[in-house]
This record gives sequence, C-alpha cells and structure tokens, in this order.
Amino acid sequence: MSEQPEQPEQPEPHEHRVINPTTEELVATVPASTAQDVDAAVVRASSAQRGWAALAPGERARLLRRFALTVDEHREELAQLEVTEAGHPIGNARWEAGNVRDLLDYAAGGVERLTGSQIPVSGGVNLTFTEPLGVVAVIAPWNFPMPIAAWGTAPALAAGNAVLLKPAETTPLTALRLAELALAAGLPEGLFQVLPGAGPVAGNALVEHPGVAKVVFTGSTAVGKEIMAKCAAQVKRVTLELGGKSPNIVFADADLERAAAAAPGSFLDNTGQDCCARSRILVQARVYDRFMELLEPAVRGFRCGDPTDPDTGMGPLISAAQRERVRSYVPEDFPAAIRGEAPKGAGFWYPATVLEGDPRDRTAVEEIFGPVAVVLPFDDEADAVRLANDTAYGLSGSIWTRDTARALRMSQAVAAGNLSVNSHSSVRYSTPFGGYKQSGLGRELGPDALAAFTETKNVFLSTEEQQ
Ligand code: NAD
Repeated sequence: MSEQPEQPEQPEPHEHRVINPTTEELVATVPASTAQDVDAAVVRASSAQRGWAALAPGERARLLRRFALTVDEHREELAQLEVTEAGHPIGNARWEAGNVRDLLDYAAGGVERLTGSQIPVSGGVNLTFTEPLGVVAVIAPWNFPMPIAAWGTAPALAAGNAVLLKPAETTPLTALRLAELALAAGLPEGLFQVLPGAGPVAGNALVEHPGVAKVVFTGSTAVGKEIMAKCAAQVKRVTLELGGKSPNIVFADADLERAAAAAPGSFLDNTGQDCCARSRILVQARVYDRFMELLEPAVRGFRCGDPTDPDTGMGPLISAAQRERVRSYVPEDFPAAIRGEAPKGAGFWYPATVLEGDPRDRTAVEEIFGPVAVVLPFDDEADAVRLANDTAYGLSGSIWTRDTARALRMSQAVAAGNLSVNSHSSVRYSTPFGGYKQSGLGRELGPDALAAFTETKNVFLSTEEQQ
C-alpha cells in the first residue's frame, strides 16, 4: 500500500475554524449556520422588525446612538479582535472600529429625517410614505469585516429594518461581538442577528429566503452575479459591491515626489486586499523612468510585519488559500521591477511587488487581491483614458496632475464610482460609494444611504365632498 501524505485536520462540517493569519494559530471555532438556522432567524427578525418600525423615530435614533456609544467603549477590544482574526495592522483596526461607531451615529441622524413628500395634484392631496423593507440580509467579505458589515447594517436598521448579517467564513468574530454589543445597548432581541456560516449554505439560504426583502452583498464579482440572478427570481432588492482593478494615473505635470510617495499605500494598504486598491499604475511615458526611481524606495519603505506594532504598514494575507491565489499570478521568484521584504516563517506573508508589463497581461487585467501592482506607460490624456477604462471594473481611481482643468476632464472621463485627485482618498461614511460596470450595483454610504432600505408608497386622497 502506498504511503498516504499526512492530511491536515479537517474541521467539522458544522463549524468554522478561525485562524490568526499572522501566527497560523487556531483562535476560535465558530458554529456554522444551516438553512434551518436561517429560517428560524428570519422568523425572529420579522417579529422584531415590526416592533422596531412601530417605535417613535426619536426612540429608534436614541437606541442607535447608544449602540454607537457602546461600540466606542469597546473600540480597543474590537480592534484587537480584528488584528487577531484578519491580521490588520493595529492602527488600521482602530480606525475600522471607529468607523463602525461613526456609521451608526451618522445613520441615527437620518432616522428622523426620513421624510416622505406631498406632491401637488388636482382633486386631492398626494402623499408619499417611506416604509422599511422588512428583513435585510447583509453578506460581508473578509477583507474589511467590521466596516463593510456596518455599511449595510447601520442604515438598514435606521430605516426601520431588521438585519441578518452573514460574515465571511474566515472572519466572524467582530461581527458576533457587534451583535452582543447591540443587545447590551438595548436594541431589541432578534433585530440584528449574526449568522456565521458557509456562503453556499447560510449565505445562499438568506438569498433564497422569501422572508428576506433585500440582499446587500459585498464580495467577488463571480458570486455577486450568482446572487443577482437568484434575487431576480423573486425580484428581490439587491445592492452589489464587487471587485476592482483601479487605475492610479500619474501625469508628467504632477508633483511626482508626492505621487510616488503616496502610491504604495494605495495598493499595499490591507496587504492589497482592498476592492479600491490602485493596482494599475499608469504613468505618462516621459516621466516613467523618474517615477520608477522614486517609487522603489517608497515601496521598500512600506513596512511589512507584526500587525500589533503601531509602525507596521501591512500585515499578512488573510489565509494560506489567498496566498496561493496571489502566488498563482506572481510566484515569489517571478522577476519583478520592485520587491519589498516580508517576514519568513509562520504567517501568510507575501512581499510588496511591482511589475512592469503589457496591458493585456493577466496581472494587469484581473483582480489579484494581494500586494501587487502593475505599472504601464501612456502617451497622452486620450491614451490615459483609454487604458483606465479598458477594464470590466469601475470602482475607484486616482488622478495626479497640477492642471485642474485636466483633473476635471479626467474625473468625467474615467468610468468609476469613486475618484480622487492628487490623493488616494479613502472611503468616507458621509459620501456615496459604489461601482460602475462589473464593480457593482447601487450605492452605499452618504446622505442617501437610508433610502436604499425603503420602499416609497404613494397615496392619493380625494378632497371631493363625499355624498
Ligand atoms: P466572496 O465572494 O468569496 O465572499 C463574500 C461573501 O459571500 C462571504 O461572506 C461568503 O461566505 C459569501 N458567499 C460566497 N458564496 C456565496 C453564495 N453562493 N451565496 C451567498 N453568499 C456567498 O468574496 P471574498 O473573497 O470574501 O472577498 C473578496 C472580494 O470582495 C474581492 O473581489 C473584492 O474586490 C470584493 N470586495 C468589494 C468591495 C466593494 O465595496 N466593492 C469591498 C470589499 C471587497
């Protein structure tokens, strides 16, 4: 009999193992929800939602503000949990926990401003009511587990809905803690439930459940398409936040020193596991060599290592599987234009990598979701627009130039939902966010966030005298 290779211990099918990506140690084992768990959760959520929607708006706002305050009181604990389960540098993780607080606070401010309207018509009065949808499912990815869970959850609750949150298999811990904090803050039992579990099991059950009125999905474009098709069968509302391959466009007239100094953060932050990563750096040909000279020390200076150290710029990748995915695009011995340092030994490390190449290369077309960027030269503005838009995606992008008119022309010409000029602006809770083309459908965040979780009902009241 041939010798069998030693098999790694398989998890029970009814639970998920949470692994610290920095140490590869087991952190926790979390039960995986089944389709029956989803059924039961929908029943509890529907009942809680009716009570929640019936509360005075001021009371709902007060409870959400209390939830925000409770998150703030546990900010450090949540941040440490994010470091442990996702390997985020502690500075980033603290920002992320603060972002959840801010999202709840901002959404709470919208509860009492969710007004309908009165529209002039003849023969009566015409009113619109803004009503909650009912039970909303939020399906979150692992790359920013806390903020992305809150992008959907906070406005959905504020608009009077119940929320069932399914975190990613690898990162359920902050989500579970947030649900406990919601209860501690006084939110009704059943209103905000977290259902950890496998995408094709718990996630799919939420998508197909007739009692779920809307799905907010953030994740890969492939799964997003599947979910959209399944929602279509029930004409279920859906918001999709999907992948990206965003351009960082550097013109010859830009402040090249600043552009080069800022470029590493735009594709290395969160170890490149960022849907907004500017992973295609487009540089005007006549300053290409100079830009590369400036970029090299900036990339090498972006510190990769222990995420608990406040000076760390980037930690490990989320999992062994994700590292294999990145390696399948760029093996670590592949000739790179620039390569940074990463720790050796335990942990899912991968070094910062900059490639030069052709726009048709797989690495220049597909989302790698790791610390890898491709630099491509362009000739003039028209060429820059052509290259920037030569992608199935359209999530974000940056434009570096000292010419304000060009910055505006480019901002209008680049087909993406979120652009920044002379900066790599991050996502803000107070401004709208979402993708063009295959980067998504709908918008989250910003002043209209609550409206995406409502139905508009129109009522006409005749003022004719009744006999
Ligand atoms: P993924 O699509 O594999 O999983 C995302 C979530 O969907 C997870 O919770 C997963 O369990 C669940 N899921 C998987 N299959 C499912 C199914 N059949 N039915 C229902 N749910 C299912 O994505 P990922 O690998 O976790 O995240 C990385 C991707 O997310 C990248 O492509 C990235 O660009 C994208 N992303 C987009 C945004 C954005 O705002 N546009 C933000 C962050 C991440």
